[in-house]
Amino acid sequence: MITENRVQQLVLGLLKQESARDKQKLIGASDFSDPCDLHLSYKLRGVTDGVSKYWLGAKVGTAIHGLLEDAIEKADVREFPELKSVAVEQSIVLGELAGYGVIKSKPDLALIDSDHLIDWKTTSRAKSKKLQNVIHGLSNDTDTTYTLRKYYAQAQAYAWGLNNSGINIDACSLVFINRDGTSDVDVWNYTFEYQDSVAVALWERLERIWLDVKDGLTEFDSDPGCFKCRMGA
Ligand SMILES: [Zn+2]
Repeated sequence: MITENRVQQLVLGLLKQESARDKQKLIGASDFSDPCDLHLSYKLRGVTDGVSKYWLGAKVGTAIHGLLEDAIEKADVREFPELKSVAVEQSIVLGELAGYGVIKSKPDLALIDSDHLIDWKTTSRAKSKKLQNVIHGLSNDTDTTYTLRKYYAQAQAYAWGLNNSGINIDACSLVFINRDGTSDVDVWNYTFEYQDSVAVALWERLERIWLDVKDGLTEFDSDPGCFKCRMGA
């Protein structure tokens, strides 16, 4: 037999095994959609957050992405004709930052015949409630608004990249799945139209911040909703 301690080490080792996503060095859409200029500048300078103590949520999120990927492959397209033609985690080029590199991303799912982008988001019941309140105009909670702005911008950036790579997208859905959920209500989505102006503005901002970073600037604006800035990270 092996000890309880060893079993624990073994399982943590398996769960914390590096994925291709962890090894990604250059920024992607999820980074440059960050509304915080300061934290985007850190990412561009290659300043990493370090290994987070709170790793399990992201791991469960990755697992759910994998589960959905398998399910899409096995899906009955007579029941869901939208799934007849899909792009799953297809690598797309968003653009090139001179002196930095090519910015690529892998949007979760494009329903090609429906011109629709889907982005999976794992979250919790408590956060879902807050997100729904902001979406329905019942709250303007700073942290939640920040998260929603980031997710919205990220989806627009994916849609923009897909459109530029020849996969037409005219709408996006953020699909939220509660990790601590138990039934159908724990899966919900927020669907909106693609706005290329949002993605273009996002890219132009990225270029501006990169030029400043390249010039050696280190002072950038914090976003009041940025949790990391508030924690002094
Ligand atoms: Zn920040």
